[in-house]
Amino acid sequence: MSGLFSAAFLRRIGWEVDVFERSPVELVGRGAGITTHPELLEALEQSGAGTRDLGIEVDRRITIDRHGRVIGERTLPQILTSWDRLQRLLRATIDEAHYHLGHTFERVEQDGHEVRVHFAEGRTERADLLIGGDGIRSGVRAQVAPDVQPIYSGYYIWRGAPNESDLAPDTLASIFPYFVFFLPERQQVIGYPISGFNNDSRAGHRRYNFIWYRVGDARTLKEMCVDEHGQQHEFSVPPPLIRKDLIAQMRADAEAIMPPAFLDCLRNIERPFFTPIYDFSSPSIVFGRVALVGDAGSSARPHMGFGVAKAGGDAQALADALASHDDIDAAVVHYNAVRQPIGECIMLHARKLGTHLGVDLKTDEDRRMWKLLQSYEAMMDWIAVPNFLAAYR
Ligand SMILES: Cc1cc2nc3c(=O)[nH]c(=O)nc-3n(C[C@H](O)[C@H](O)[C@H](O)COP(=O)(O)OP(=O)(O)OC[C@H]3O[C@@H](n4cnc5c(N)ncnc54)[C@H](O)[C@@H]3O)c2cc1C
Repeated sequence: MSGLFSAAFLRRIGWEVDVFERSPVELVGRGAGITTHPELLEALEQSGAGTRDLGIEVDRRITIDRHGRVIGERTLPQILTSWDRLQRLLRATIDEAHYHLGHTFERVEQDGHEVRVHFAEGRTERADLLIGGDGIRSGVRAQVAPDVQPIYSGYYIWRGAPNESDLAPDTLASIFPYFVFFLPERQQVIGYPISGFNNDSRAGHRRYNFIWYRVGDARTLKEMCVDEHGQQHEFSVPPPLIRKDLIAQMRADAEAIMPPAFLDCLRNIERPFFTPIYDFSSPSIVFGRVALVGDAGSSARPHMGFGVAKAGGDAQALADALASHDDIDAAVVHYNAVRQPIGECIMLHARKLGTHLGVDLKTDEDRRMWKLLQSYEAMMDWIAVPNFLAAYR
């Protein structure tokens, strides 16, 4: 997302930009639901990607109890989109000649005036600027700031997106139209509707994004990262290789605590997968003629659902800085000054929200926040709400 956003914004100010993606095939069908924010909508419009058929609009949030009874409600219109839809809108802004699949960044050399970028497949490119938009495990960052490493939060999520057409009538009536919270002790289950296959938003063709936050220490995570064939993975396991016994245990745990509608969702997710939650913020996001954008520069826990909005904001700010400075070096220094603090602020804000799960509460402020978020009313007011950054401006 951040690479495509960067290409779109820089082309708008007259730069020639090429995007190199490590995947040999078009990226489709990845990830699931993405909550939207005004900043994301603005970045999509300003980049030229647009917001047509962006997703499903919900008009309210509800919290339900173990029996499925509604115990809290908030009016809060919000558009829920999907990774696929955003990728398609952004991908359409760049022509084929400038989008290169099957190119894995290997290393960069710089001499003060240009960068030479080497790809594992053998190609070398010269450019004025290298923009590292290669995600939380960025290879670009690993070279320019090897000490900056993502930190495990102490919790992970199970997720998936069942088809609307598979869900029971009760589930469709009680939770499907809403952004829904179920909050057992030290856990969070969150759900909302998203478009179906091929961005189909017709009734009967949509999906329901299901997310279940669970606490698990580093040792538990390491055990979870042993795959179906007994192989140990470092950070997470590709969905098809997640052990069947792990999924069976998770399903059994869910049966013991979840309301019927969320159980129905889970039973209709053929292949649930887990994502460990990490975060970090690099003290600098510019290293000479190398600029980091999106998750490569900082990544927040997903409680705000703001990662793609942040990626768009980074790209927009980088283009603004380049457009308003004659000198590229001065422009990227300005970009760093504007966006590094914002990335850090978002990461810290998400940590505050993560205190709900009661992991590693170190300070009085952590404990105050944890206490506040034990109320489902507060959770509905804080989690993934629009305009949270305004409070920091
Ligand atoms: C559970 C979860 C839920 C989330 N929910 C939301 C949400 O609701 N709303 C939201 O806005 N955000 C959400 N996010 C965050 C969002 O997914 C990320 O912030 C966003 O994808 C970051 O985009 P990016 O382009 O920086 O990185 P990525 O999406 O990780 O993209 C990096 C790209 O770089 C490529 N790449 C990697 N290494 C190389 C290499 N060496 N050479 C070439 N290419 C390479 C990868 O193949 C990939 O295409 C969520 C994240 C998680 C984990």
